[in-house]
Amino acid sequence: MLKARGLILLGIALTVATIIASEKRYSGYKVYTVKKARNDTEYKALLELQKNFKKVDFWSDPSKRRPTDIMVSPEDLTKTEQFLSSHGLEYSVAINDVQRVVEKENVRSTRQSGMNWRDYQRLRTIHDWLDSLAAFNPQVAQTGSIGRSTEGRNLKMIKLSKNPEKKNPVIYIDGGIHAREWISPAVTTYIIGKLMSLSPQDADLLENVDWHIVPVLNPDGYEYTFNEDRLWRKSRSLHNGPNCPGVDLNRNFDFHWGEAGTNDDPCRNTYPGPYPFSEPEANSTASYLFNNRNKIRAYLTFHSYSQLWLTPYGYTEDLPSDYEELESLGLRAARALQEVYGTEYEVGAPSHILYSNSGSSRDYAKGVPGIKYSYTIELRDQGDFGFLLPPQQILSTCEETWEGVKVIARQVARERPSGPTFSDIYNSIVDRDPDDRTKVDVAGIRLR
Ligand SMILES: [Zn+2]
Repeated sequence: MLKARGLILLGIALTVATIIASEKRYSGYKVYTVKKARNDTEYKALLELQKNFKKVDFWSDPSKRRPTDIMVSPEDLTKTEQFLSSHGLEYSVAINDVQRVVEKENVRSTRQSGMNWRDYQRLRTIHDWLDSLAAFNPQVAQTGSIGRSTEGRNLKMIKLSKNPEKKNPVIYIDGGIHAREWISPAVTTYIIGKLMSLSPQDADLLENVDWHIVPVLNPDGYEYTFNEDRLWRKSRSLHNGPNCPGVDLNRNFDFHWGEAGTNDDPCRNTYPGPYPFSEPEANSTASYLFNNRNKIRAYLTFHSYSQLWLTPYGYTEDLPSDYEELESLGLRAARALQEVYGTEYEVGAPSHILYSNSGSSRDYAKGVPGIKYSYTIELRDQGDFGFLLPPQQILSTCEETWEGVKVIARQVARERPSGPTFSDIYNSIVDRDPDDRTKVDVAGIRLR
């Protein structure tokens, strides 16, 4: 008996040791903010840095329009600083020791106090909370799943609908596509919480709109950021063996897949996958958006950071034909958001105000199922903490973002009777190039 207990204790000790040993540490890692490139030469130097310094983690991609944040390991510090200086790139230190910031954040996130917005929450807490909301409010809330992740976790969705018989327009929201952007699931869950406890003056938000929300779309990656590596971004699939797992889910959608802003190297953070929709998380989202394209009027996907309200498109500098409507609604949302705490957002297409990216969920939602208002919202901050936004800022970020979301919802409710019909959308799709695989989607069959 004693021997057995000893073995169990040894087992527990070994497990704890393995967890601690495998957790990636960021002691001595720094985050630099490199001033925005002033000319093509500086821009090319940034691209060269990204290409050749494989271990430098670009928290934001090189851009002529905004500063670029890079995280550098202690071994690469001297080399990187020399490169920046020799190319005339001005920089400053945003975070002096990444590990210290990670630890500060983690002390709070390990507290077990149920669902709240003082701390970042584990997946289990979020999913249990969604189920309890549905259990206590069966007439309004239902939980389900749009699919399963690579590691078999539920891609849990909550549907909120007060008047199913009214056939309200739907707002589809997802969060946590990128695992390390913890503020995103905090905001998506906050939106759910607000919708379940609306004040009388906001009652219209559930009377006239239905909400389909997947708060954590990359649950494998999200759990990995708590257990192993706080700064993990991608999914956790193993297309290339164990060395470089994961795919950038927001480059994996089958709309101009693998074009601008992607990297074929599976070890990189913007690897778009071996083929479009290789990832069940992206594929399930696309199927849901496509199958419900007649009802969904807005698609909001929450990321961090940079404080941007992004319209389509990222893959091209061409703008959608209704860009002005998208921009003006985005501006109104950003204004309402700013009124709460003064947080400023920029509004526009990524190819114009940020940098190009392709195969994103936002571009897909607009380009294939033809969802009218498709936005990526890059939440706080502007690089002081980046992905490591302190827990003290969770609630204020949620509160201000909610005001922006309300503006979108009221516009969608107002436009209810108009909007494209199914045949408009069908025709816009079958007009495409016959080789375009999206045409096949109309018949419900997805080509690989
Ligand atoms: Zn992101």
